[in-house]
This record gives sequence, C-alpha cells and structure tokens, in this order.
Amino acid sequence: MNKKLDVYLAGPRGFCAGVERAILMVQEAIKKYGAPVYVRHEIVHNKYVVDNLKKEGAIFVEELYEIDQRDRPVIFSAHGVPKSVPKEAANLKLLYFDATCPLVSKIHKEVENFEKKNLPVILIGHHNHPEVIGTMGQTAKEIFLVENKEEVKHLPIQKNQQIAYVTQTTLSVDDTKEIIDEIKLHFKNVLEPKKKDICYATTNRQKAVKNIANLSDYFFVIGSKNSSNSLRLVEVAKNYGSQKAILIDDIDNFDPTILNSSSKIGITASASSPEILVSKMLGKIGQQFDLNIIESEYEKENIHFKIPQKLKEVV
Ligand code: SF4
Repeated sequence: MNKKLDVYLAGPRGFCAGVERAILMVQEAIKKYGAPVYVRHEIVHNKYVVDNLKKEGAIFVEELYEIDQRDRPVIFSAHGVPKSVPKEAANLKLLYFDATCPLVSKIHKEVENFEKKNLPVILIGHHNHPEVIGTMGQTAKEIFLVENKEEVKHLPIQKNQQIAYVTQTTLSVDDTKEIIDEIKLHFKNVLEPKKKDICYATTNRQKAVKNIANLSDYFFVIGSKNSSNSLRLVEVAKNYGSQKAILIDDIDNFDPTILNSSSKIGITASASSPEILVSKMLGKIGQQFDLNIIESEYEKENIHFKIPQKLKEVV
C-alpha cells in the first residue's frame, strides 16, 4: 500500500481573466483568418500554453520585423506593448489585435493622465519585464523605475516635488507595500493610482498561498521560469511558512520520491498556468502516494474579459 499524502490545493489558482482572453484571441484569430497567426512575444508566460498554440498555428516572434508573411494577422501579448508597437504595425500595414490585459491598459491610462498633469512618474516593477517595457513606452517622458525601497531614496527627484506612482500588476503585494510606504515617506506630495495596480488575480493567488503555506512541508508552484506571478508565489510560500517552495515548470521531469519523508504538501498554479497541469502533477504524485486532496478556497472569482468584437465576426 502507498504512503498517504495530504495535498492542499490553493484556491483560487490558475488562469486569470486576462490570460483566458489573450489565449482565446489567438485561437479566434486562427479560426477566423486561418493559420498562421503571428504573436508578438509569448502571449502569456507559460511554455505549455505557447507550445499548444504553436501546434494550433501560431508563430511567435519577439519583434514585428521578424514577420515574414505580412498579409497575416499579428496579436500583441497580454503584457502590453509600448505605443511605438501599434505605430510600427500600422507602418508595416499589418492587421493587428492587441491582447493587452484590460488591467494593464488601465495602468497605461494612468501614466497618460499623470503625464497630462506633468508629474514625474515612478514605476514599481522589474527591469526588462515586458509589462514594464510596455508601461514605460506609454510616454515619451522619463519614467523612474524602482525595484526596491533602497532605489526610492536615490531617485533624482526633489523631495518636495509632487510625484505619482504606478506598479506592475504581478508584484508581491507585501514587497510593493514596503516600497509604496518608502515613496510616501520620502516624497511629501504623492498622487496614487485610484485603484491598486496589482491586479485581483495576483492578489488572490498570493492570499490563497498564504492561507495554506504553513500547512505543507513542500509547496509546489506550477508555472514557467519567466513568469513574474509564478516566481512571486514561490516567494510567498517560503515567506509564509512552507519549509520548501519550488517552481515546477517541467512536470515530466518531477521526481515524486523527494516526498518520501513528507506527509503534507501544497500546490498552486500561477495565473498563466492551466488547470490541466495541476491534474498532471497530481497524477504523477498519485502514482506513488495515496492522495488526500484538500481544496482550500480563499475566494471565488467570477471575472471574465470580452475579446474584441472584430475577432468574432465572420469574414
Ligand atoms: S495577472 Fe492580472 S494583469 Fe496579468 S493578465 Fe492576469 S488579470 Fe491581467
């Protein structure tokens, strides 16, 4: 008889509304225009999703000039793009669709509004992340990017000048709060975004992990290495009491024997990871252990974003 293993499943987990919409946009474009359909950058940061869309007829490029067949449509990824990208697409006479998550577009609007008010804008985010590149590309003016609270202290902005800030959507809620506190301490007059920029999906997935992290010896986050929200979930699991928290981006090579001395584990999937990977992980562990699955549900989500009408219309 196999050894018994308690498995706490975080809830909510997996696909968020922005990821669902972006994937559906690629699939609908392939349905409407036929293959291939180009996608600028990984539509969402998940290898499984990208590999499957390739099989369905998507071709992924990093820049528009890499597109060989200019009569094919192109879709911009969920992370958002600088304003220069749709301009370039128009210059190249490409048919393009923008799968930027509406919650990222909201931040682009904030940057525009702060620009109109002529305020210096601080962006809390990670260097070189495509969402950060997209947000910085919403204005011709300089945006001041900070990754930690130390960097706030060294910004080349007068302390008494009014400033505004925005954040990346997929940051650690706890770390970002510390940086915002530092901004408010350092600058006298701070204009904040109307609603928090870290999105509902990031917030809920982190809270769901906090809820169960200390119940597990091992905590597994299913997601890809280049996915910001996946990496943050690993940090959260570690910070909230899991003895070992590990990112699982290749279930085929996962060896369940590492759990031989465990009796309880936790599992979640990042906002860009499909539920099928959770089932696959459970199947793999279940070959060697008798699983007692405990679904925890921190919050129910019922958020969906519509795809552009133009993609649904029949040619
Ligand atoms: S993680 Fe948040 S911002 Fe990113 S696609 Fe999902 S809902 Fe949109």
